[in-house]
Amino acid sequence: MEKKSIPRTEEEWKEVLTPEQYKILREKGTEAAFSGKLLHADKNGTYMCLACGNPLFNADAKFESGTGWPSFDEAIHGAIRQISDDSLGMSRTEIVCSRCDSHLGHVFNDGPTKTGKRFCLNSACLDLEERNVD
Ligand SMILES: [Zn+2]
Repeated sequence: MEKKSIPRTEEEWKEVLTPEQYKILREKGTEAAFSGKLLHADKNGTYMCLACGNPLFNADAKFESGTGWPSFDEAIHGAIRQISDDSLGMSRTEIVCSRCDSHLGHVFNDGPTKTGKRFCLNSACLDLEERNVD
């Protein structure tokens, strides 16, 4: 797959992203719960950063959390960075793409699987590259 070059300025981001994507990825917005196109996706493959194509999650890490956002219990090693986020009067951990610094969602320590993690993503930040399994 050809790697997209990463835009450097906010003006360049506005050219490559839709207004909705820009709001979430670059201004740390959150899409409405149960609105995302990938919420119920169950295809095999890799979830990439929509902004830059960085592989973030394997499809087998995805689980149904009931929150209304796509949720994963484990990120691909080195794919994301965690930043403490005290906005909105809450103490949360923001996750951003390690390659392009775009906002992706938050990670919580109440995951139901053995990792104990719940990566809560915006569908709008993800692109699923499907893979067929033999
Ligand atoms: Zn990215």
